[in-house]
Amino acid sequence: MLKSATRKPALERSDAPEVKYGLPREVIFCRGCVMSNQRPSSIPEFRHRPDRQGAKYLHLDEEGVCDACRYAQRKETIDWTRREQELLALLDRYRRSDGAYDCLVPGSGGKDSAYAAHLLKYTYGMHPLTVTWPPILYTDYGWKNFQNWIEVGGFDNVTFKPNGRVHRLLTRLAIEHLLHPFQTFILGQKNLAPKVALRYQIPLVFFGEPEAEYGSPIAETASSLRDTSYYTMRHLDELYLAGLPLPELMERHQLSLNDFMAYLPADAEELARSNIEVHYMGYYIKWTPQEAYYYAVEHTGFQARPFRTEGTYSKYNSIDDKIDDLHYYTTHIKFGLGRASYDASQEIRNKHLTREEGIALVRRFDGEQPGRYVREVLEALGLTVERFMELCDEFRSPHLWTREGGRWSLRHEVA
Ligand SMILES: [Zn+2]
Repeated sequence: MLKSATRKPALERSDAPEVKYGLPREVIFCRGCVMSNQRPSSIPEFRHRPDRQGAKYLHLDEEGVCDACRYAQRKETIDWTRREQELLALLDRYRRSDGAYDCLVPGSGGKDSAYAAHLLKYTYGMHPLTVTWPPILYTDYGWKNFQNWIEVGGFDNVTFKPNGRVHRLLTRLAIEHLLHPFQTFILGQKNLAPKVALRYQIPLVFFGEPEAEYGSPIAETASSLRDTSYYTMRHLDELYLAGLPLPELMERHQLSLNDFMAYLPADAEELARSNIEVHYMGYYIKWTPQEAYYYAVEHTGFQARPFRTEGTYSKYNSIDDKIDDLHYYTTHIKFGLGRASYDASQEIRNKHLTREEGIALVRRFDGEQPGRYVREVLEALGLTVERFMELCDEFRSPHLWTREGGRWSLRHEVA
């Protein structure tokens, strides 16, 4: 390590800039990819508080390599033939021939859910029900890809459309209290599927990639099962939405419990009694986003956008929702990591880019201010662009950002 023994720890220095959200004070970039230790690990979204109490951040080991890079290396040593046999054994136990659904695949028409559902149905002979929590505002390509998934791919689909007034309110409050425009989408996307599985008595739920692919603790990859803490709850009083405890949210905004139920996770005891299992396909099948993309193009009519997504160089990752660009802009504000950092890190790990190429892409595109959909999205939520930009400034952590001559710049950039 480069640290000198005589240097006073930053924590004790009185002139050290403030650190928000419990982020690590010292910014360290992974030596394998372009992520830093400021990247949050997944936490159950319904526990997300404004101070991010209890949040964990990307772990770098003693060699300065992050868990997501280690996981990518480990993927090279996994016996994928054996893993597929494990999957086949599981599917054989649950496959139905009486007309019922035997598995459930959540998704809104992106490449990963298209890939998972198509494999299960057409390669492994399962009978999936697909379940969709739609984007807040579909892009034209997102809407077409969703329709193609169902029409060209050939699946039954249940789409749950939440109450528009509550949805806009909660999304706006999540921006105001957490600078987190994507929260309502994440809540729906993670919590809806197990609840629909309960309702239809479908024993298997398949998500695509494990969170570790993007840097949650590597220990989570040891099992195919998704940890139940992500999609179950025991008591309503332990939950937060838009950064507020539920009773406070209800009182302040004259909402009833019924208004929120769509966003909340399944009841832990009810789910435990049901024997429903929530798995990652990425545990059984070697998951590469690029390959999921090519597969979806071939089998479900998936189309990339002909233009580059703002804030990055890519054309096919997470393109369904007009709020996506805003979401990644806010990760750049809060953690110093924009969409190009996420895209490039993943492509470096899959050896589609060198680290040097990744660094150049991050420097060119990360944190690009979104323009294409931003006004439309914010207007729909009842916010002005000016107010949104003010909020962004309030959410910058001083240990990451400095302002000179009216311009913000990052104190630490990947190199
Ligand atoms: Zn890394």
